[in-house]
Amino acid sequence: MVHATEAYNPENIFAKILRGEIPCTPVYEDDYALAFPDINPQAPVHILVIPKGDYVSAADFAANAPPEMITGFMRALGKVAAAAGLEDSGYRLISNAGPDSHQEVPHLHYHILGGQPVGPLVVK
Ligand code: AMP
Repeated sequence: MVHATEAYNPENIFAKILRGEIPCTPVYEDDYALAFPDINPQAPVHILVIPKGDYVSAADFAANAPPEMITGFMRALGKVAAAAGLEDSGYRLISNAGPDSHQEVPHLHYHILGGQPVGPLVVK
């Protein structure tokens, strides 16, 4: 389980993907972001978008990423959702942080989920 304020661990699986040590099938890549399908999809479209930098969480990213990285990454999120054909039908963006969210991988990532109604925001 990832602690919300833990230091960045460069041995996490997404860091290894960024370094090319573990394969993925990119659906988008630029100077700021890499996007690839989730290995365990929870919806017909389930894409992960990760920044090319050492950030554990959205809070870490917001506090420590340079402005051009924040801008570039946010633009990448929008481009990936659009390229996946989700703009009309809609989609959900999720970024888990810390134990209550069940964050598994301690590298900031956004899940883009769509392709069908994705249900309530929080399971009761
Ligand atoms: P989270 O619980 O928000 O940290 O989500 C981590 C996600 O990463 C899960 O949905 C996993 O299925 C996904 N995942 C783990 N390893 C890989 C991998 N090698 N390639 C693609 N997705 C992965």
